[in-house]
Order: sequence, then structure tokens, then C-alpha cells
Amino acid sequence: MSQIPQVTWKCTKCGYTYTDVKPAEECPSCHEKCEFIDVSCYTPDCADPGTDDRLV
Ligand SMILES: [Zn+2]
Repeated sequence: MSQIPQVTWKCTKCGYTYTDVKPAEECPSCHEKCEFIDVSCYTPDCADPGTDDRLV
């Protein structure tokens, strides 16, 4: 089995974020068929140095 990368999705309507492999058809929070944007940040060069709390 291959590892499916988890993506953090954010509802553009209510700002609700959740992690899944694909965006939900309906927002779990506002129950609208809203648009989801990918807000996941898993690449090393995504965050500024010193802001990664995994290193603290
Ligand atoms: Zn929503």
C-alpha cells in the first residue's frame, strides 16, 4: 500500500480547517458546498527558519 499524503483543507466560507486526502464535498462545519483551499504546509522551505515548533 502506498502512503497517501494528507492535505489540510480550509473552507473559504467559514474558515474551518481539517485534514484529509481530498476536500469534502460539503463543509463539516457550515454544511455548505463551499470551496476548499489547500493550506497544508509540509515542505521544509514553506515556513521561515525558527518558526517550526517541531524543532523546539
Ligand atoms: Zn465551511
